[in-house]
Parts: sequence; structure tokens; C-alpha cells
Amino acid sequence: MENIPQAAPGVRSADSFRQEKAFVNGEWISAKSGATYQVINPSNQAVLGVVPDMNEEDTKAAIEVAYKTFQTWRNVTPKERSTILKRWFELTVQHKEELAKLITAEMGKPMADSLGEVGFGGSFIEWYAEETKRIYGDVINGSNPQRRLLVLKQPIGVAAMITPWNFPNAMITRKACAAIAAGCTVVIKPAEDTPYSALALCQLAAEAGLPPGVLNVVTSSRGNAPAVGQAMCESPLVTKMSFTGSTATGKIILRQCAGTVKKTSMELGGNAPYIVFDNADLEKAVKGTIGSKFRCSGQTCVCANRILVQENIYEDYVKKLAEVIKQELKVGDGFEPGVNLGPLINKKAVDKVNSIVDDAVAKGARVVLGGTSNEKGGNFVNPTLLADVKLDMRCGQEEIFGPVAPIFKFKTEDEAVAIANATTSGLAGYFYSRDIGQIWRVAERLDYGMVGVNEGVISCVEAPFGGFKESGLGKEGSVYGIEEYLEMKYVCMGVA
Ligand code: NAD
Repeated sequence: MENIPQAAPGVRSADSFRQEKAFVNGEWISAKSGATYQVINPSNQAVLGVVPDMNEEDTKAAIEVAYKTFQTWRNVTPKERSTILKRWFELTVQHKEELAKLITAEMGKPMADSLGEVGFGGSFIEWYAEETKRIYGDVINGSNPQRRLLVLKQPIGVAAMITPWNFPNAMITRKACAAIAAGCTVVIKPAEDTPYSALALCQLAAEAGLPPGVLNVVTSSRGNAPAVGQAMCESPLVTKMSFTGSTATGKIILRQCAGTVKKTSMELGGNAPYIVFDNADLEKAVKGTIGSKFRCSGQTCVCANRILVQENIYEDYVKKLAEVIKQELKVGDGFEPGVNLGPLINKKAVDKVNSIVDDAVAKGARVVLGGTSNEKGGNFVNPTLLADVKLDMRCGQEEIFGPVAPIFKFKTEDEAVAIANATTSGLAGYFYSRDIGQIWRVAERLDYGMVGVNEGVISCVEAPFGGFKESGLGKEGSVYGIEEYLEMKYVCMGVA
């Protein structure tokens, strides 16, 4: 494969994990139509290979396999499920380099970040290998002594999943492992840009002994994504739909699921405030901005999006952040040593980010660093720092999804909270303060599903991930994530 560094002698190459077929019923298969599409390296536009371009018919067939398999997988003991998941986890540790190379090749993320993602992705496999053993029901003492009231937790059935490209490995494991641990079977459509990470995980799951039909991946181009999604949403055999991606697509999927009243989990877009109060540890706040804003080149849904700085420390903060960006961030191909800011996923994303910067500049923003030109061309965008921005600019309203940091000014705590909450999104919010009273007040007042206090990167396997308002429904990861794949059944037993 072009552009993936070779492995050391005796080590399996990343290429040996790059499957050019979809994975259904434990087999590597083509689209029934025979159609394929190309997967592109966003750093240099090289073609990495092809995968099947599947459609509604292929999706329905995969759902039938998952439905049939569910009848047996639901009865497999938790201990056995746990053993398989643990073996799968160990294989991802053993092959972390190869999995990371696939992420960097198809998504562009720097290798260090890709290795981090493989570790993060693996943490969900390991976590749910344990959680599968802790699915409990309940016995209720009712008021009628001749009855016993039981609560059972049972797997929900076939879970369909649609995932994004920004975490091509971890978004698969966070969803699929919770479902598999619960006793569900799974059909996943990974993002069109990043199918290889999903397929490599299938290969390792099969090697770990996951039975055929438990985990199925159908691949499709952007053109066929709506048809695949619709087949999943409208199928009466699918009882759970889990989606991560844009809010606009999430709303389409929710509407399509209404026909079968499907249970849904939605992880949608964010518009995270990142508030720096004047009593904050400035060094820490600046450092936190680098991780929160520029990780994954600003392409995470929990990224700091609107940076709000109290007016008396505003210029200081802008100056310090500019210095750190200049010192620490290096743009380039994720395989190049030292690079920590990869490309954006595609040209469309670059155009969108550039147009947000142009809009701000046209309306009077000051470009402290970066801007819309990048000497490397392609999908690269320089880290950009915008000062003197206003909330009515696009950068104050929209999710930027790129390495652009707009710094807004505020006067009081009330004003900061009001600005932070004035959005239909409610995924993640952050603030920096050293005042314990303020920390309690602001943490409680932010209308966000996840709040970082003096921390800019907070996702972890142990904590529930999910948003308020239009950022989503349900939680992923943690002890709570498995509940999304369990139905609660009440059984009333007469004992007289
Ligand atoms: P997108 O919604 O266009 O695509 C996400 C997935 O949905 C892809 O697999 C895509 O093929 C599929 N898809 C697209 N249209 C579809 C349709 N009509 N029916 C069924 N499936 C369809 O999002 P994107 O532009 O690829 O990703 C960026 C967006 O995703 C950002 O807005 C970001 O906030 C959001 N996102 C959210 C999270 C989260 O956890 N909340 C994580 C990553 C990305």
C-alpha cells in the first residue's frame, strides 16, 4: 500500500490488515453489485485501495445474518463473551502499530495520536469484557405478598451503527463492544473515508474467536450512505440504532427510526465553550487549549470551539497562546516525525474551515496567527488564532471542525455562562478557574453533558460520554454505556 511505512522483518505489516472486502457472517465479501470505491490518504490524495460500495440490498442481507446470529449469541454466557473480548483486546495491543498506521493512512492523524486512539479504542474492548459480567436484574418487594416482582435486563437485539471518520477505531469499539457485551449482534457502516480501521478490527475479532455474524461491517461510499442508513433505520429486525456524526444526519436518522419506534443513541455535533476566568492558572489554561482545540486538527466533536477569555487577561492569553502554538505545533503528513497537526479529512472540510476564517476577517477579526493560506496545499490548514471576534460571526455560531481558535472577550461570570449556554448544542464545555465557589457554580450552570474544570481533554473509558440538547441522546462508554443495549423487562410471579 502506498504511503504506509513498512514493518520490521518478522512483524505483520499494516497492509496485512488492510482488507478490501466487507465483513459479514465471518466472511470477507464483495457488494452484490460488484461495485467498489476508492479510499484516499488525506495527506497526499494517494489511493490507499478500494472497498465494496454496498447498498440497501447488501445491508438487508447483513441485518438478516445479525438477526439469525442473535438467537444464539444472546445465550452465550457472560464468561465466554468476556474471554473473547479480552482476547480481542490483547490482539489490539499486540498489533497497535499496524492499527495506528491504518488510522494515519486513511484519516491523517499523526502517528502518536493514532497510537493513542488505538489505546483508547482498546480500553472499551477491555472495559466491556468486564462489564458483560455485571449485568444485574432486580427483585422488588411489592405490596401483594402473593407475588414476586422481578426486573430482568436482556439484550436489545440487533444493533445497527453508523460511525464517523475522526476516530475510526475508537468509535467502532465504544459502540460495538458495549453491544456485544450486552449479548447483541451488530451491523456497522463505518464512515466512507475510514473503512480500513473498522475492517482490521473485524479481522482481529475473528482471530479472537468472535463467532461469525456477531460483528458485521458493510462499507459504502458517501453516495450509498443514505440508502444503507435507511435500510438500517427502517428494518423491523433492527431494534437499536446508534449513530455518531453531524446533527443534521442525526435528525434524518431519528426521523427514519420513528416508523419502527427504534431505540436510538445519538452522539452529534458540539459547540464547546472554553472559558478562562481571570483568576485561572494562565499557563495551564493555555496548555489546555492546545489539547482541547488542536488535537485531531480540531476535528473532534468535543473540541474547544468558542474560547471565552475574561477581558482583563485577554491580550495576555492571546499572546501566550500564539507563542505556544508557534513553538509546539507542526503541520504535515502524520507519518513524518515531529508532526502533530495532520491534514483535514477532505477538501470540502478545508473549504468550510477557510470560509469561516474569511467570514471572521471580513467582519473585522484580527488574524494573530495562520489564516487561510497553507504553503503545503492539499488538505492542510495552518493553526489559526483569531482575536477581536464577535459572536455573530460564523466562528461564534458554528462548529468549526478545524484548527482555528477564535478568542472572544467577556466581562462577568454571568455573561460567560450566558454566552456558553446560548447554543442548541450541549456536548462538552470547559472552564479554568481557581475559585472553588466559582468552580461549583459554573460546573452546575453549564448546560453540557460533559464539563472539564481546569482540564481540556476529558473523554475516558470510565466516564459517560454524551450530550444535552441537540448534541445527542444516551451515553457511551463507562458502566452506563451497556444500558443502551439492554431492555428492562418486568416479570410478575405469583407464588401463592
Ligand atoms: P456526517 O453526519 O455527514 O457523517 C457521519 C456518518 O454518517 C458517516 O458514516 C456517513 O457516511 C453517514 N451518513 C451521512 N449521511 C447519511 C445519511 N443520510 N444516512 C445515513 N448515514 C449517513 O458527519 P461528518 O461530516 O462525516 O462528520 C463531522 C460531524 O460529525 C461533525 O459535525 C461532528 O461534530 C460530528 N461528530 C460527532 C461526534 C460525537 O461523538 N458527538 C463524533 C465525531 C463527529
